[in-house]
Amino acid sequence: MRIARIEAYIIQVELIKPYLTAGYAEGGMTAKPCVILRMTTDNGLQGFGESDPFPTFTYESPETVMHMIRNHLGPLVLGMDPANLVALHASMDALVPGWPFAKAPIDIAAHDILGQALGVPVYQLLGGQVRDRIPMLWPLGGDTPEANAHEAVQKIAEGYRSLHIKLGALSPEVDVARLRAISQAVGPEIPLMVDVNQGWDYSTALRTIRQLESLNISMVEQPLAANEIDAMAKLQASVNLPLSVDEALHSTHEAVTIIRQDAARVFSLKVGKCGGLFRTRQIAAIAEAARTPCFVNSMIEMGISVMASVHVAATVPNLVKHGHALMSNLRIKEDILLDGNFQYDGRDILVPQDCKGLGLKVDEDKLARLAQDHFVLEI
Ligand SMILES: [Mg+2]
Repeated sequence: MRIARIEAYIIQVELIKPYLTAGYAEGGMTAKPCVILRMTTDNGLQGFGESDPFPTFTYESPETVMHMIRNHLGPLVLGMDPANLVALHASMDALVPGWPFAKAPIDIAAHDILGQALGVPVYQLLGGQVRDRIPMLWPLGGDTPEANAHEAVQKIAEGYRSLHIKLGALSPEVDVARLRAISQAVGPEIPLMVDVNQGWDYSTALRTIRQLESLNISMVEQPLAANEIDAMAKLQASVNLPLSVDEALHSTHEAVTIIRQDAARVFSLKVGKCGGLFRTRQIAAIAEAARTPCFVNSMIEMGISVMASVHVAATVPNLVKHGHALMSNLRIKEDILLDGNFQYDGRDILVPQDCKGLGLKVDEDKLARLAQDHFVLEI
């Protein structure tokens, strides 16, 4: 089996509600582009991948992903066997170190094809499932304490059992007031994970996290800049709440460094940021060896990335106990997956059973209608 054709598209994703985060304060995010990749093999199998970089948080953009696939990674993998995942990654890493968001859609599509070729779900390729459902949480962006508390109550009434709250876009005083209002509104039994997106310096982080320690905060994600691993280690040693690494964690090498320095006690996994399913699973194994739980996170994503995350999350024993960010496709106006591709039970997302590959049902008409930029590479 050989990779015979690669096709990539840029699609603009519009959010149902603008999203205010650190690094994107002005009016919040209303839309963002993502990359969809279609891989075809010489025996007629077809797999899909997706990549959702966002330059404020990642070193890559949808345009650089298109460039890297069209000019470097695509020509490299054409002719390779998608079943040889180790060789596929070794070749990509030898050609260009880094660029996880450009490698991820190739990796995801290769897994999708390999699962179809073997007649098994992708999670089987990753070691098999240890769970058949995963709880979701709901994210709250920057807003007034009253508006955040109101939305939090609504979401808990809808069945979510944990919340993901963006900090760092507003002042620390407002952020603390928001968290107190949310906590009071939903009650102390609902875990709140907070995500600062690199929005604080060390002293702000130390002071603010200490003010949060009386609330039911499950973890504090990326309070400091991604490259401040030493400062994260010092901060982790000075506060009681577990810190989580998101923007600081892309690779197995970074995972080892973070563990060695005890710079965080939770790993935030994203299939795109970690370079695809293969590397995400490796990072989860490093975390497991270090007794570090993983949080399955997302960018602003369409359903292909969400489904890839569901497959890998199904295989990770060391997940945090509360909800995971597997709701991205519920926050966008249109997805290219057909309705019904995802199964839910309340606010748990169900791991698809008996599917082959990722089990994607792509709406080809919608893909053709929404595609803004497009290229094809063939053997
Ligand atoms: Mg984050």
